[in-house]
Amino acid sequence: MEKLFNSTRDNDNKLSPSRAIIKGLSDDGGLFVPQFLKDVKFDYKDFIGKSYNYIAKTILGEFLDFSKEQIDYCVDTAYSLNNFETEDIFKVVDVEDGLSILELFSGNTIAFKDCALSILPLLLKCAKENENDKDDVLILTATSGDTGKAALEGFHDVDGIDVIVYYPYKGVSRLQLLQMLTQKGSNVKSYAVKGNFDDTQAGVKEIFNDSDFEKELEKYGVKLSSANSINIGRLLPQVVYYYHSYVRLIEQGKIKEGDKVNFIVPTGNFGNILAGYYAYLTGLPVNKLICASNDNNVLFDFFKSGTYDKNREFKKTISPSMDILISSNLERLIYHMYDGDDKKVNDLMAKLSNEGKYTIDSEYMNKADNFIGGYATEDEIREVIKEVYEKDNYLMDTHTAAGYKVYKDTKEDDTYSVLLSTASPYKFSKDVYDSIFDDDVKASDDVEYMYKLNEKTKVNIPKPVNNIESIERREEEVITKEDMRNSILKYIEGKK
Ligand SMILES: *Cc1c(COP(=O)(O)O)cnc(C)c1O
Repeated sequence: MEKLFNSTRDNDNKLSPSRAIIKGLSDDGGLFVPQFLKDVKFDYKDFIGKSYNYIAKTILGEFLDFSKEQIDYCVDTAYSLNNFETEDIFKVVDVEDGLSILELFSGNTIAFKDCALSILPLLLKCAKENENDKDDVLILTATSGDTGKAALEGFHDVDGIDVIVYYPYKGVSRLQLLQMLTQKGSNVKSYAVKGNFDDTQAGVKEIFNDSDFEKELEKYGVKLSSANSINIGRLLPQVVYYYHSYVRLIEQGKIKEGDKVNFIVPTGNFGNILAGYYAYLTGLPVNKLICASNDNNVLFDFFKSGTYDKNREFKKTISPSMDILISSNLERLIYHMYDGDDKKVNDLMAKLSNEGKYTIDSEYMNKADNFIGGYATEDEIREVIKEVYEKDNYLMDTHTAAGYKVYKDTKEDDTYSVLLSTASPYKFSKDVYDSIFDDDVKASDDVEYMYKLNEKTKVNIPKPVNNIESIERREEEVITKEDMRNSILKYIEGKK
């Protein structure tokens, strides 16, 4: 079987997995999907008793055109105690009857994007070898806070690859900001862009679609790529922890072999939950994929009505990584719902960019039957954090709490559920603290709150962020969306 990926907007635009990882986004604006997806099947029984890395190697080896040595190198380098707190990479923690939490925050940036971004640079490096590609790669990333640091951390000091991260000015927490500004490495750079995350993301997308600018960069021997969750090299590593958590539940005696489980996923750009859909399509016994949103509940409306409508007020919430009105990865789900009808995807995406909305034909909506949407308001998120802390003695972050609320709302039977926890509570200490304790602390920012929260709860502060304020840091550089192209040229010029 030849492994080829194609664009969601053009089935004839086919390329090797390595090339797809290098390109990130297709020239036609589409996202790459594995053409051979329906031929890929995994038997979870083969994973029982096996390490995280074994499962990762099996899954990635099946999707990629990499040698066994390359797969071993990528997986063993990324998923090691250098980058993760625990040998088994992610813990599956029993929280209450019928519910476990999959803690995806054991990496260096204490949020779930570490999973994919610790391996993507290595995948990219090998992909370049396979394609005999000597150009320097410049990764451009729009971030709502977490991806940025995770990309900087994953890529720093990787040869032949540079990274520029754009985040919304004043749109990330102080801790996220410090994490980015304290990043080491001469090949990584971050800019604050005036506007919200969607503006920032739109700016990056425009640059990727600007062929004149691409030609200009060619003169420098530089090729653009993306580390955003639209890169297929981000998506595939995330399939692993669905299988991994499933077999750990079997081993822990929480479920029996073959039992279907629900996964509740705090969702923003739809990458995490789409990986769950790929796990389902490749054979994992999944009952429902429950898509949890915050007040930016565009996906909740979509799964209820079949209409995706981003024409609504953008709301800044206490779960900022879910503050997204255009969930890019949804395009891949739509492609699969329409059985690979690329014309249809083009139509719908044109509608999205022209009118800000589109509607799925009702006969295709049932293809997404195992998705359920739900959302949590700001008050509900706060209540959940307090309630779960007091009842289960478990401290959760704001994103995970949105997931918990949606778990309660959508629970209809005894199906075992796994809630994906996408960030450490210490990543959002202020909101977590204020949700539980009503004393009037005089902490000025979320870093100070981190220590207050620790004092009260005795839950350990993750090592990578303990004492972050004493680490030397760079100045914040603020630009406008219009300045983004210039910032790239300036960076490249500066490196010469
Ligand atoms: C990125 C992120 C999400 C959203 O994940 P998507 O793959 O974009 O849906 C949720 N929570 C946290 C903490 C994140 O960093």
